[in-house]
Amino acid sequence: WNHSRKHSAWGSDWKAFVYWIPYMSSFNELPLSRSMQSNLSQLGYSEPTQVQAKTIPLAIKGKDVIAMAKTGSGKTAAFGIGLVEGLNARHFACQGLVLCPTRELADQVAKSLRQLARAKQNVKVLTLCGGVAIGPQIGSLSHGAHLIVGTPGRIQDHLRKGTLNLDHLRTVVLDEADRMLDMGFREVITDILEQAPASRQTLMFSATWPDAIRQMSSNYQREPVDVRVVDQE
Ligand code: ADP
Ligand code: MG
Repeated sequence: WNHSRKHSAWGSDWKAFVYWIPYMSSFNELPLSRSMQSNLSQLGYSEPTQVQAKTIPLAIKGKDVIAMAKTGSGKTAAFGIGLVEGLNARHFACQGLVLCPTRELADQVAKSLRQLARAKQNVKVLTLCGGVAIGPQIGSLSHGAHLIVGTPGRIQDHLRKGTLNLDHLRTVVLDEADRMLDMGFREVITDILEQAPASRQTLMFSATWPDAIRQMSSNYQREPVDVRVVDQE
């Protein structure tokens, strides 16, 4: 045991560290409410996927997480379960924001969040994407929403107009972060993150791990826990 070994093991510029949690085979072993447990079994989710088993306990504790896992590994519920569990449905303010690269993905995520949100009463999930008129979105926002899923450009538009308020945001999720950066959304995303409360939790999901992702993580996450799933089920 010596100094150099410590440095080579963790790296000096790399804040994240690999967090090994024994694979859990049941949602019952995760710290979830009974209503979420029964909702998951109604949805036919009997076992957590690996990225879910590793991410959910951290997300529920409020940790920042950067998770790398392939398409189809269940990343939506990996962040969605914690988003729903953590929100106060009686507080009609945006508590969770999910940024997605495309409208199609945002619609899919919103659909999953609505299913997961059956564990609570009266949770409103709103999608805000470009390519459609902004007026009706402003109308929907005026009625309030607990969870918002959208594409970066349109979220930025609403922040500029003052039609979306992030003062009560608890968690921001970058879904398919690598794809969003490939599409040129880096500056828009950083603008949104700069406007989110400093105390928020930031969860990043990516299929690959380019430098731009690491850089965004080190700039906008606090002591992020690195979750990597190598073997997919
Ligand atoms: P990713 O975002 O990693 O590509 P998704 O979140 O879209 O993956 O999930 C892929 C599919 O797996 C979806 O149809 C989802 O409903 C399903 N799924 C997710 N988690 C579970 C689970 N624990 N048990 C069974 N099916 C699941
Ligand atoms: Mg996904």
